[in-house]
Order: sequence, then structure tokens, then C-alpha cells
Amino acid sequence: MNSTVLVLGAGIGGLVAANALRRHLAPRHRVIIANREPVFSLPASYLWVMSGMRRPREITRPLDRLQRRGIQWIHGEIEHIDPMRREAVISGKRIAADYLVVALGADFDTAKVEGLTEGGLTFATLDGATRLNAALSGFREGRVVILTAAPLYKCPAAPYEAAMLIEALFRRRGLAGKVSIDLYAAEPGPMGVAGPAVSAAVRAMVESKGIAYHPERQVVSVDPVRRLIDFSNGEKASYDLLAYMPPIKAPGVARESSLVGESGWVEAERHTLKTRFANVYALGDAVSIPLSMGKPLPKAGVFAHAQALVVAHNIVREIKALGREASYEGNGACFVEEGGGRAGYGAGDFYAEPKPDVKLHRSGRFWHVGKVWFEKYWFWRWL
Ligand SMILES: Cc1cc2nc3c(=O)[nH]c(=O)nc-3n(C[C@H](O)[C@H](O)[C@H](O)COP(=O)(O)OP(=O)(O)OC[C@H]3O[C@@H](n4cnc5c(N)ncnc54)[C@H](O)[C@@H]3O)c2cc1C
Repeated sequence: MNSTVLVLGAGIGGLVAANALRRHLAPRHRVIIANREPVFSLPASYLWVMSGMRRPREITRPLDRLQRRGIQWIHGEIEHIDPMRREAVISGKRIAADYLVVALGADFDTAKVEGLTEGGLTFATLDGATRLNAALSGFREGRVVILTAAPLYKCPAAPYEAAMLIEALFRRRGLAGKVSIDLYAAEPGPMGVAGPAVSAAVRAMVESKGIAYHPERQVVSVDPVRRLIDFSNGEKASYDLLAYMPPIKAPGVARESSLVGESGWVEAERHTLKTRFANVYALGDAVSIPLSMGKPLPKAGVFAHAQALVVAHNIVREIKALGREASYEGNGACFVEEGGGRAGYGAGDFYAEPKPDVKLHRSGRFWHVGKVWFEKYWFWRWL
């Protein structure tokens, strides 16, 4: 029998899943992937676009090149998902499959904070990172504020890396005395899920660069005219340039389906990424996986990537009726860029009991080169 696997979303998780499926399934089985944008850009490199180390086109690839790999590519908006029937409506067309892989990421929820988009620029999108690069290039003196607009956001390291990369940029341009950098965070500390030792080490990295860190500051609104941020504790902060990490929510089309549970996110089993619907899997940022320490697994590409390999393996296994079931065991790692060609590296087991077991390796050139290599490898291997 010939099977059809429909992958919804061509971001990190979707691309890895579709490629792994295609590689291990005979050509008579169809692998289809759908996405609203016609191109993919690598979020892990957005901060390099922001700091002028990459041009947008260097980290962007057209998705239609997937066809060369035997993956059927659909450019369109996924308007409806019916997990019971394993169907999706994509730009008005109903597509049925034997297996569904939901890899739709997370939607930004900027509307949650009044004035945020008008008052600041975000490094969480390629367009935002490009605009921030232009704004930083023209910045000569004043106060830059980095803001996490909610405790849950994509990539726990990113705002801390953003602050350090901006500081390095100004230092290189001889503006150290003329510019001040403040980081206001909604969360109690950097990368909290990784544990107190990692959190303290990242905080120390940030503060050692003269960046003023203000944790547990939940933004309520931004006044773009007066360039003033209001926090829920009554504090206010003025800025000349605001760079922010937006709040997130489950992708709209998933929220309208029965895939989303009480958490507000898609629910899937933590090891197999199976949803409660037969032959429907969900992975990556769209899914909330609770950890025993009370917080969910962070939203990061490294997790989406590893989960996608497990999901692809298990779908192939079912189709071929061959091999052992793979299990995602909660391992993950991330580089922490600090500027000046240096980075730290955190890695560990996020499913460890009673709490994640994550270590931060000392910052150095080695890890920065590792991230550069990873970027090249990622495009070569997956797109
Ligand atoms: C600035 C920044 C830096 C980061 N750095 C790192 C890092 O160094 N390491 C790391 O591990 N992670 C990093 N991340 C996080 C990482 O990018 C995400 O966790 C990862 O992309 C999640 O993968 P995903 O497949 O779940 O979702 P995504 O990669 O977001 O892909 C989801 C796709 O689904 C599409 N989609 C959604 N809804 C629809 C719809 N209705 N119709 C059609 N298409 C739809 C989206 O357009 C998107 O293309 C970073 C994120 C940011 C913002």
C-alpha cells in the first residue's frame, strides 16, 4: 500500500521531518510539506543579521528546492486541520493523508502588549533583525533597552545573546561610554529551566559587560511617542532604542482545532510526540511538554529537530512494519553568543528527574566556530 505523510509547517521541525521521511521511504510513498512563506530563514542566525555579521539572503533558502529531493511542496495557508480524519485545508484545497505531522511553531502575540510593535523593533523575525541592524548602525548615543515581553518566548538564550552582541557592536565602534544597555526581563533569570547554576552563569556573562539586568519586570505597555515602558510593578523605563522578544501563543490554526489542550498548546506524548489522534504527531514550538520542575520544555529548534527525527523514524517504522520504536529523551543544547567571536555552550538532559540536568561550558572561540559550522551544516543537510 502507498502512504501519504503530510507535514504541516516547513520550519526547523517540519524540514527535518520531511527530509528524514523522504530519505527512508520508498518513492511510491508521498511526503508533502506545506508552509505559508515560500522561503525558509534560519532563526538561529537572526542575531547575526541584527549585528551585521550576516545578510538576510545568506540565511534564506527557497522552499521549492525541496521538490528536487522528492518532497512535494505546497506554498499556502493552512486554514483548517481535522486530526480525526487526518486532513488539512491548505489555501482552500482539502488534502487527506495517512499520517499528519503538525510542526507549525508558535505565533507571535505582540498585540498582548499595547505599543510594543509601534515603540520597538524585534530581533525575533528576519525583517525585525534587518531593521534593527539599520537602527543600530545609525545609533551614536543614548539608551538601548532589550526587553522580554513575557516569560515564555522562543529560544531562552536569544535576548541575552542579543544584549551581548549589541554591547560588542558598540564597543567595536568605540561607543562604549556613550551608550548604555539595559535588559528588562519578564522572567526571574536567564534560561531558568536549565537550572540555577546555568542561569547565574549567563547572568554573570551579561553583567560583566556592563549591561544592567532587571529581572521580573513584566511590561504592561509601551508609549512609542514618549519612548517609555510601563511595568506591572509600577516602574517605568525610558529608552532611545527598544529591541524586544515578543510573547508567543500556539499557532492559530492549531488553536482552532481539537489538538490544543488545557495548556493552550498542542498536546503530545513527550517521548513519541503522538497526539491523542491516531497517526497524528505534533512537535516543536507548537507543543507544550510539561517538565517535573513545573515549567514546560523551552521552545527551541534543537528540540524541534530532535523530535522530528523521532517522529520520522516511527512513521517509517510503521509504514515498513520494521524496526524498533524511537523515543525522544529530552536532550538539548544551545550556543550562547557573547560577541567578539566567542560563545558559551549549554547542553544536557531536560527530562532528567527531579529537574533538568544542564551544564554550561565556558565561553570561548571554539563554541562560536561551532555555531558557524552548525549553520552551514544545517542548510547543506536539510535545505
Ligand atoms: C532570534 C531567535 C534565535 C533563535 N536561536 C535559536 C538557537 O540558537 N537554537 C535553537 O535551538 N533555537 C533557536 N531559536 C528557536 C527556534 O527558531 C524555534 O524554536 C524553532 O524554529 C521551532 O521549530 P518549529 O519547527 O517548531 O517551528 P518553526 O521553525 O517556527 O516553523 C513553523 C512553520 O509553520 C509555518 N506556519 C504556521 N502556521 C501556519 C499556517 N497556518 N499555514 C502555513 N504555514 C504555517 C510558519 O510560517 C513556519 O514556517 C531561535 C529563535 C529566535 C526567534
